[in-house]
Amino acid sequence: MDGLSISPNGGGRRRVVVVGAGVGGLAVAARVAAATNAQVLILEKNAEAGGRCGSFERTTTQGTYRHERGPSLLLLPEIYRDLFRDCNEPCPFEIKPCIPAYQVVFDDGDCIDLGFSKQRQGAANDSVTAPAEETSRAKMDTLEHDGAAKWDEYMAACAAFLDCGLSNFIEERFDLGSFPAFLYQALRKGAKAWPLKPHSDVLDATFQSTKMRALASFQDLYVGLEPYRNNRQWFGGILQSTAPAVFGLLAAIELHPTNAKCGVFAPVGGFAAVTAGIEKLATDLGVDIQCNATVAKITQDGVYYRGKNDATGSVAQFEPADLVIVNADLPYATQTILLDDIDDRSDSTSSDRFDWDDKYIFSSGVIAFHWSVDKELTDLNTHNVFLSAGSLADAKASWKTLRDTQNTTDSLSDAPFNFYVHSASKTDPTSAPKVIQWQQLKSTVSSQLFGTIEALLVIRSSH
Ligand SMILES: Cc1cc2nc3c(=O)[nH]c(=O)nc-3n(C[C@H](O)[C@H](O)[C@H](O)COP(=O)(O)OP(=O)(O)OC[C@H]3O[C@@H](n4cnc5c(N)ncnc54)[C@H](O)[C@@H]3O)c2cc1C
Repeated sequence: MDGLSISPNGGGRRRVVVVGAGVGGLAVAARVAAATNAQVLILEKNAEAGGRCGSFERTTTQGTYRHERGPSLLLLPEIYRDLFRDCNEPCPFEIKPCIPAYQVVFDDGDCIDLGFSKQRQGAANDSVTAPAEETSRAKMDTLEHDGAAKWDEYMAACAAFLDCGLSNFIEERFDLGSFPAFLYQALRKGAKAWPLKPHSDVLDATFQSTKMRALASFQDLYVGLEPYRNNRQWFGGILQSTAPAVFGLLAAIELHPTNAKCGVFAPVGGFAAVTAGIEKLATDLGVDIQCNATVAKITQDGVYYRGKNDATGSVAQFEPADLVIVNADLPYATQTILLDDIDDRSDSTSSDRFDWDDKYIFSSGVIAFHWSVDKELTDLNTHNVFLSAGSLADAKASWKTLRDTQNTTDSLSDAPFNFYVHSASKTDPTSAPKVIQWQQLKSTVSSQLFGTIEALLVIRSSH
């Protein structure tokens, strides 16, 4: 970023415009401001910063409940902490580990807890989690013969894929040392876990039971893919909607048995606290954030944008820039603000263009329900995954919406389906009202926490 500190003509500061004040735009703006003396401006089309990441509140007669509008699982917390560390500020929000990472509930009512990695790091509540982990492993042995041992074998491959993928591809930090374990896991036992096979080929070679296969692969959903081989497509579908086995690394991000960077976490104060913390970091570093400003076109010299609330809203305004960083949705940006053939937007008659690049294959969308509940939710964990795995046919059908881009209505009404339920109050008491109950007989006071529930149902996007 050094070039940004030098002015083009020997005078003034370089100007950087960031498009979009989601967490990505806020973080990159903060980093540019911390590392250079450039003037940084974020233009955000919405009325507030945060993008998909954040929370909203509902007040009922019981009190105020906080719900998440997007993310609920905080993964790889060091990425958040590194941002603050690199900008020489303390991370302002607390990140709590969720142990176990989540509860999986099958359609026949069978339950299992997964993800005890922090317990192996010597977490304080060892005495609670160690028996819980043993119960979980015993449960795997009831799902199939040697289930826990097979889980360990599978997780070792996923862990090696992650250790190599995280440093070399996600963090873009070349780590030669991670390759031997990757190659060993990829090639062992006749390339049983070869990372480019359809995910289900590796699952079939490792597990017998549909439930164990389902436990080991539902994270494919996070990238909008299904685990099952699709014989109607080349290479079993790995170029389309089927995840290659290397995506087992998604399971390792949450369940890696030893890597301290991994696990499932929850931010205290919800994702609103994350957004607010990064927004404050950026503004403290001198970043200017202009909301209600929709960027319409980017040129060599700067950006044209429209303000929503000011008198000049119908006229595109120009912001000169030496560098423009776009952190708006990629398919939207390529069709709408980065196209060369768009007029210069400086006239008052052209309307905002909104289009998507249909060359991309879009992943799934979600329907989310938010409930503010006036009772304690003892059966739910913070994160709960409900899986259809009564039979292989049901398990495959539950992913139908991802494979079948048509007939979305049929898919939702007829097919078995998987869903996720988030109950934030389990880990973070600030998300729901606390109610004091007087227990007359004992004359003691006990507190009860009301619950918030978010249920996410996956649908195939119509794009
Ligand atoms: C339902 C749901 C659940 C999720 N769950 C998780 C989870 O549990 N864990 C997790 O880690 N991630 C999760 N994610 C993903 C996570 O939310 C995103 O990866 C992250 O928020 C993306 O941040 P971003 O800043 O890159 O993009 P965005 O949040 O999309 O921000 C882009 C910003 O650009 C603005 N913008 C767009 N066009 C223009 C324009 N022309 N001019 C000006 N501004 C513009 C938008 O208004 C927006 O504010 C989830 C996402 C969803 C939707």
